[in-house]
Amino acid sequence: MEVKCKVCKRKPDEIYEYIISARGERISPQEYVIRQEGTYNMLTGKFYCTKCYIKIGLPLGVA
Ligand SMILES: [Zn+2]
Repeated sequence: MEVKCKVCKRKPDEIYEYIISARGERISPQEYVIRQEGTYNMLTGKFYCTKCYIKIGLPLGVA
């Protein structure tokens, strides 16, 4: 299963905010999204990165 933003299709290791946050916790950007990203959908591997999440109007629930 590929973990990527549902809108822009970027992977966590291509998104600066996750790279930085993951580094602080000494885990991979993908692992960070799986553990910490509130919009991460464990069934599909999709999430909304912050930029897309704002662009689509802050929807409730997971991606
Ligand atoms: Zn995105």
